[in-house]
Amino acid sequence: MHSQGRREFLSTMGAFALLPTVRTEAELVLHNANVLTMDPAQPRAQAVAVSGGRFLAVGSDADVLNLATGRAARVDLGGKTVVPGFIDAHSHPAEAGYQHLKQVDCALDSIARIQEALRSRAAKTPPGDWVLGFKYDDTKTAEGRFLTREDLDAVSTAHPVLVGHRGGHTVYVNSLALQKAGVDEKTPDPAGGRFYRDPARGRLTGRAAETAIDVFGKAIPSALSRDDRREGVRLIGAMMARTGLTSVTDAGGSPEDLLAYQDAREAGQLPLRVYCHIRAPYLDSMLKAGVRTGFGDEWVRVGAVKMVCDGSISERTARLAQPYVGRPDDRGILVTPEPALYATLRKAHEAGWQLGVHANGDEAIDLVLRIYERLQRELPRRDPRFRLEHCTMITDDLVARIKALGAIPTPFSTYVYWHGEKMKEYGAERLDRMFALRSFLDAGIRATQASDYPPGPFEPMMALQSEVTRTDSRGNVWGPRQKITVEEALRVGTIHGAYASFEERLKGSIEAGKLADLVVLGRDPLREPASSLVGIPIERTMAGGRWVFEA
Ligand SMILES: [Zn+2]
Repeated sequence: MHSQGRREFLSTMGAFALLPTVRTEAELVLHNANVLTMDPAQPRAQAVAVSGGRFLAVGSDADVLNLATGRAARVDLGGKTVVPGFIDAHSHPAEAGYQHLKQVDCALDSIARIQEALRSRAAKTPPGDWVLGFKYDDTKTAEGRFLTREDLDAVSTAHPVLVGHRGGHTVYVNSLALQKAGVDEKTPDPAGGRFYRDPARGRLTGRAAETAIDVFGKAIPSALSRDDRREGVRLIGAMMARTGLTSVTDAGGSPEDLLAYQDAREAGQLPLRVYCHIRAPYLDSMLKAGVRTGFGDEWVRVGAVKMVCDGSISERTARLAQPYVGRPDDRGILVTPEPALYATLRKAHEAGWQLGVHANGDEAIDLVLRIYERLQRELPRRDPRFRLEHCTMITDDLVARIKALGAIPTPFSTYVYWHGEKMKEYGAERLDRMFALRSFLDAGIRATQASDYPPGPFEPMMALQSEVTRTDSRGNVWGPRQKITVEEALRVGTIHGAYASFEERLKGSIEAGKLADLVVLGRDPLREPASSLVGIPIERTMAGGRWVFEA
């Protein structure tokens, strides 16, 4: 048994020794396993004992089986590999859950099939009500162009139709949706947004980006009940647990989302832990209620305050220092101006909140770092763990500044594998500076695993393959200088994620005293060819000592 972990466990338990619920007897022992602990003091083990939702002991079969007395259940894992539960440090589970519950999944391979799916939903929808789609991706359709308002008028002229892009920063609407939102050819582009127009005639194409999306959001009545929200969270939680995720950061939560997570938990339907960022418009009400980062417990906890600086990588609107390849006048979109970001971030920083700002392009990252540096000069805080949500495109200078601040990047983990067809618009030179895990790890920066789901798939095994091979699903290599090893990718997906939410003493590795979150894998990723990591089956997922998924 690892003595340091044991000591830590004993001292942890000591603090609660008088509580009647504490159990020091093992309830469950998993043995005959290949445990990759992510604990540098004891990287490998054969067995773990679990009690009260935490690891009681981690070590050799001989040591740990000694604890399997009385009623302890024993599970022989037959030599299978066990890793800590994976942590997705940036995704949108509540929102995605609601979408899976209520909208048309448009992850389809042609515009014709998308139209067909929307048409069949329209047939069941009263005229005048909205038909909504999500997970549409222009680069995954045979036509290889954006949806137009004509495409969507062909779905229905009696229903307003809106289809969101998988990236989450553009939408595609039909003529009735434009009318319902009060948008016509004379409507100017809002600051930080764009209504796309046909260059020859100036006619609206039906595509809208960034802040221009807001008018549609206001026009769509929310049809979600409190019970719908709980059900959405249950649905996405089950989808994520079966891939080996035991913790997730909701990178854009609202008070309603926070409630939905709590409702799901109370109903026994939350299989993973949630660190819930709160969007900036809700900051004042949170401050008034005396809530800040860290409030909650190990299942549902308030995360950082979330703001957005620039556009998206998958929709090619990220704000770049140099133009996109083939579009000399396009450097992407700056969504929130620096003074507005600074004012809100200062207020949150001063009140003890962690800050998490979406910044993809190199120009956006520079801007956000400038604000973080200024805040630490004006209001220095010890260990603020500033987050750079995505932090996609770096330079050596940006990496040095991230390291100096102790900031945390959450780069997209599955984009190289999944979104390969978009990479040419950034060009080979920039790809070697994107999703830059090699650069971050070499500089000693604790970057995380992050899907941003729906924009990127959340399967941790796909993240491993994408990060290790830098190869897309068709075999094209993008940015090979940023390859990392499987061992490194496992740490990025576990203990680094725990650090990003100030929970590295609670989870992220398999150590006595930590939360009993683990995954049983069908094959050992350290022995698997890098090109087939994505195919490693997830056999079981445990969160808090309970099996939350069993294949
Ligand atoms: Zn996001």
